[in-house]
Amino acid sequence: MTKDSIVRRVAWPKSVSTPVATPLQPSVVYASPDLDTLDAQYEGAAKGYAYAREGHPNADVLAQKIDMLEGGEGGLILGSGMAAVGVVMLGLLSAGDHVLGGNQLYGRSMRLMTQDLPRLGIDASLADPTDISAMRAAIRPNTKMILVEVVSNPTLRVADMDGLAQLAKEHGVLLVVDNTFTTPRGFKAFDQGADIVIHSVTKLLAGHSDATLGYVCAKDPELRQPLIDAAATWGMTPSPFDCWMAERGLYSFELRYDRAEANAKALADALADTAGVKRVLYPTRPDHPDHNRAVALLGDRGGNMVSFELTGGRDMANRFVRACPQIAFAPTLGDIGTTLSNPATSSHRALTPEARAELGMSDGFFRVSVGVEDSDQLIAEFKEAIGTANG
Ligand SMILES: *Cc1c(COP(=O)(O)O)cnc(C)c1O
Repeated sequence: MTKDSIVRRVAWPKSVSTPVATPLQPSVVYASPDLDTLDAQYEGAAKGYAYAREGHPNADVLAQKIDMLEGGEGGLILGSGMAAVGVVMLGLLSAGDHVLGGNQLYGRSMRLMTQDLPRLGIDASLADPTDISAMRAAIRPNTKMILVEVVSNPTLRVADMDGLAQLAKEHGVLLVVDNTFTTPRGFKAFDQGADIVIHSVTKLLAGHSDATLGYVCAKDPELRQPLIDAAATWGMTPSPFDCWMAERGLYSFELRYDRAEANAKALADALADTAGVKRVLYPTRPDHPDHNRAVALLGDRGGNMVSFELTGGRDMANRFVRACPQIAFAPTLGDIGTTLSNPATSSHRALTPEARAELGMSDGFFRVSVGVEDSDQLIAEFKEAIGTANG
């Protein structure tokens, strides 16, 4: 007769009913009944989890749901959006390869390409993804991959996705699309020629600024194992708790996105009609520099991001931010509530003022990630704060 011990786990209480909510499974490790079963698991004859860095149920449940949205299969959850970008590079490129990126990628993606990949002997260069001839001219004999975002941060330029899909096909290179801004609600990347889709799940998909996660999905099943292995080897896999939180957020993603997008459209139009605002950027507005392409590519799905420039400089920008403390001034996007960022002091602070000016980002340039608040209230808050800042 063995004695009980509180350090031994007791059996999970039996229930003929099943939980409606997805259970959270934080276990790092899984026990097998015997050697034969463990063998069967490692050899793929039986399905089972072994060690959480190699995979766990909460990551798999979340991956399945994002696969559903993207129309992909076999997607993988990573510990952050940057882990998703990193795993694609580390899993699929080798020394001597070249990767071509868009020149307005997310700041860290740009840094990965220009500073970190070269240390590993991987060449990287950047070109303007709205200009297909510039992208074509940047292709090299050793180019293996093109990485682009559909709508750029923070100037909301729209990449020539048709041209890029064609270019990638012609040269037999992988087209990797970071679909964080546009989301599968706005842009079906696989239908538009993407070979690999990446997300910062942290942003709109999870939607509540309480989980940092990434997602990657390859169309070609042969590319999936190298991604899985790179993630497990470099330790880029996610926490069960974050996956569980993100899944909870994802249930309302489509509702949140549609509401936030409608708000963004209304806010863009209202800002364009506000004294103290020099210009407004919203992809589907007729005055957007890529309007025709935006409409062809996105239809009326302009997304939840709006950028605008105040007529004044840094002083006016400070007055504006101080005048709307109820809107979080925070360098993120995709939260359920509206957030405001100022690229000159956050995402693009490493650039010189001249380089920022060239990209059209003065000190008075703001990016708004529009949330699901009441639209009239939101517009009134912006108008009042800009009015105050405009003196
Ligand atoms: C935020 C973001 C990332 C990085 O995601 P993290 O989850 O913060 O690591 C990558 N690409 C885009 C477009 C992003 O907005």
